[in-house]
Amino acid sequence: DFSVRLQVKGEDELAQLGKAIQTLAADLEYLKKERNEFLASISHELRTPLTYVKGYADIARRPNIAEEERANYLSIIYEEAERMQKLVKDLFELAKMDRHSFQIEKEPTPLCLFLKKIYEKMAPAFQAKQMVLIYRCEENVTVYIDRQRFEQVMTNLLDNALKYSHECSTVSMHVKREKKNVIIMISDEGIGIPEADLPHIFERFHRVDKSRSRIGGGTGLGLAIVKEIVEAHGGSISATSQFGKGTTMLITLPRG
Ligand code: ADP
Repeated sequence: DFSVRLQVKGEDELAQLGKAIQTLAADLEYLKKERNEFLASISHELRTPLTYVKGYADIARRPNIAEEERANYLSIIYEEAERMQKLVKDLFELAKMDRHSFQIEKEPTPLCLFLKKIYEKMAPAFQAKQMVLIYRCEENVTVYIDRQRFEQVMTNLLDNALKYSHECSTVSMHVKREKKNVIIMISDEGIGIPEADLPHIFERFHRVDKSRSRIGGGTGLGLAIVKEIVEAHGGSISATSQFGKGTTMLITLPRG
């Protein structure tokens, strides 16, 4: 992209070259800023669980503490360690994607059957929150997908629908066939996403409500990973939402 812009010909070559270098410098500045922000986010995300681990470990090691209390602190330490593990795993995955050393192995897959299995795996988690998960697939179209990766996509989106919904609400997973594409829609009746946040939710570490996401065990990287995987399949993902009413995630995949 940069090299294309630097190939200037014609009368005002020097002026154009100057402009191109300015643009390049601005781009580099932007990348540097982005990188700094990303590193700052990682430090922040790790600092919080580390503070908990250190603080609670310090109390738990005191000799005169009640056993019950100690057990409680140890389970907090365990949860925070789990969160850090998930964060490191997600970061590693994104780093692999950035280096383009992430391989997807596509296999022809009957989509309805594939999603039905995921639906069956996830349904109990919805029942546990007195929620209903509805699944509708019109026609068993074949798609070329990396099954493991695609399951990760679906699980992530359904997890979010579960996490950001109220008890007793409904989530639906609906598959539609179009001429060239297949559309997978996941709709919830949950808390929704404010309009200002909507364009950013697929960015790394973007979260509408950091404290709520922390309670739900989120890393803020889930949707960034989902987007990378869907795009690696030649597809796209978008979201529509009404704040306070619900959210719909829409995946478009090319048909096999
Ligand atoms: P997290 O780990 O925080 O859930 P994600 O990358 O999966 O991170 O999602 C980014 C943010 O987008 C979330 O923190 C949340 O604010 C918002 N979000 C994602 N899915 C939904 C949904 N179904 N309903 C409401 N908000 C959502």
